[in-house]
Amino acid sequence: MSYDTNNVFARILRGEIPAAKLYDDAFAIAFADIAPSAPTHVLVIPKGEFTHYDDFLIRAGDAQILGFFKAVRAVAQQLGVGEYRLITNNGESAGQSVHHFHVHILAGKKLGALVGD
Ligand code: AMP
Repeated sequence: MSYDTNNVFARILRGEIPAAKLYDDAFAIAFADIAPSAPTHVLVIPKGEFTHYDDFLIRAGDAQILGFFKAVRAVAQQLGVGEYRLITNNGESAGQSVHHFHVHILAGKKLGALVGD
């Protein structure tokens, strides 16, 4: 799948649509999920045109990959959640609906099964 420069996260990155932004560094931004699945539900996205996890790991440079995943941890630290779940849906059949790579941070309650029906 080629990258759609008008996907909703690309538009948030460009500041074209609002988001409850919590974090911004050289590699990533983070903002609240618009339809939270837990008391804390934050999305972390890289500052680059990557459709999904595989695409990011294949095409991004090592510094970008390291910077992104360090940003994920920094966001969790900033949120003050000691325990949390990370999810990335790698492709549509895995549940991905927005085709700009992102990691969900979920916390704030005892989380249930990994996979629903
Ligand atoms: P996924 O299904 O893994 O692709 O996750 C996409 C997530 O993006 C969902 O949890 C949506 O609720 C969330 N989402 C979609 N549009 C927005 C938006 N404008 N601002 C914040 N989160 C959004």
